[in-house]
Amino acid sequence: ITLPGTSSGLHIVHIAAEMAPVAKVGGLADVISGLGKALQKKGHLVEIILPKYDCMQNDQVSNLKVLDVVVQSYFEGNLFNNKIWTGTVEAYAGLPVYFIEPQHPAKFFWRAQYYGEHDDFKRFAYFSRAALELLYQSQKKIDIIHCHDWQTAFVAPLYWEAYANLGFNSARICFTCHNFEYQGAAPAQDLACCGLDVEQLDREDRMRDNSHGRINVVKGAIVYSNIVTTVSPTYALEVRSEGGRGLQDSLKLHSRKFVGILNGIDTDTWNPSTDRHLKVQYNANDLQGKAANKAALRKQLNLSSTNASQPLVGCITRLVPQKGVHLIRHAIYKTAELGGQFVLLGSSPVPHIQREFEGIADHFQNNNNIRLLLKYDDSLSHWIYAASDMFIVPSMFEPCGLTQMIAMRYGSVPIVRKTGGLNDSVFDFDDETIPKELRNGFTFVHPDEKALSGAMERAFNYYNRKPEIWKQLVQKDMRIDFSWASSASQYEDIYQRAVARARAAA
Ligand code: ADP
Repeated sequence: ITLPGTSSGLHIVHIAAEMAPVAKVGGLADVISGLGKALQKKGHLVEIILPKYDCMQNDQVSNLKVLDVVVQSYFEGNLFNNKIWTGTVEAYAGLPVYFIEPQHPAKFFWRAQYYGEHDDFKRFAYFSRAALELLYQSQKKIDIIHCHDWQTAFVAPLYWEAYANLGFNSARICFTCHNFEYQGAAPAQDLACCGLDVEQLDREDRMRDNSHGRINVVKGAIVYSNIVTTVSPTYALEVRSEGGRGLQDSLKLHSRKFVGILNGIDTDTWNPSTDRHLKVQYNANDLQGKAANKAALRKQLNLSSTNASQPLVGCITRLVPQKGVHLIRHAIYKTAELGGQFVLLGSSPVPHIQREFEGIADHFQNNNNIRLLLKYDDSLSHWIYAASDMFIVPSMFEPCGLTQMIAMRYGSVPIVRKTGGLNDSVFDFDDETIPKELRNGFTFVHPDEKALSGAMERAFNYYNRKPEIWKQLVQKDMRIDFSWASSASQYEDIYQRAVARARAAA
């Protein structure tokens, strides 16, 4: 282990809008904590900066306290004070976190939700500026500032346009885009709120959106960062064409600094042999506990338990078009037709989708094989991963996807559409062009009901007719290494090369 401050130990600061389990909406939260912890374990000094949301899980932060400093940051022509809180997140090896609480009348992070406010652009522009100001005033010598998604993409142009001139320039900027669907586009003049120079930046080769005559913050981060990454090799290819949602040309132009690195999962948080959310812990050598979790979940959800070997299909997801909601709906009916049971845990920020699934939930209310739980519930998610035999992820596109990896770790065989990170982590059991030892699930290509049905029928066939082969598949999936170790090494490598280039230049 190398110590921070020694030649190879880096000082890395993540600036992000989410972090598990303190402020989690989706996979971004898992990545911040999982990657942060893995880098810390490798001997780097890792710190995280988050907004101080009113709705965050304070009980997940140890020694949460206000620092005796006031950081002033610029916004819309004025300086505002920020309260700075610190604490550590014990669930992730005591990662140190700074929380920024703006003393601004708009109460940017006092909205009882993380995203979805009319002024999201301003809220996160404010946060990005305040986070950089905190680092600048702390006078720490930071090697890597790693920002994530459009919410903190402002950091890259701010750093190089506003802070580097002040002598705050030791760091190199890494930007990870976890989903190119969300790019933070806005009218050009909105960019000025955090002190960026609109005239300088509203240019084709800088932050002007490639199609709409607006500015685009993710484009700004692609242009201004030293390293740009996304969360799987296949998605990195996809976004160089249509998947880039208008940013393909920018990505091609900057392709030398752009790379796709598959996310890992935190194998301590997601470990069926120690998981306290489960009724019974279990492991690949002893699957009885898995059966016990299935029996208990069926009872809890009022599902039929007459046939212990009736397969249970799970699905845990945000219900948004990206996730293939029409195919999720189809999978529910198809499971019923194939004689299985289905449990969906999901919630939707899109009112008409939420309503549609409430309708389906009502329809199956008295059916003892189908249950829809339309909410966010972390503890229950662990239980469903453990209880299910199969797990469906029929996404239209999927930058990385974590649920298929978590499912495998809990012995639930994934049925996924071959796209993005799903294509890098799930390999079809029947595909003879793939080495046998890699085959771990069932995949389909076309985003239609017929293709999904085909994959589900094949899975049910093995499950019902070849229980021994199925069991071996379950055990194999549980033993696959999805930990952060190898992905964190890839980040470490690109950080180190950026830092070496910076030192050589200086
Ligand atoms: P995304 O980031 O697009 O939402 P990922 O697959 O990368 O998708 O990450 C999803 C994460 O959020 C997983 O950890 C999953 O277990 C969790 N999750 C999604 N929906 C729910 C829910 N309704 N309740 C609990 N956890 C959920």
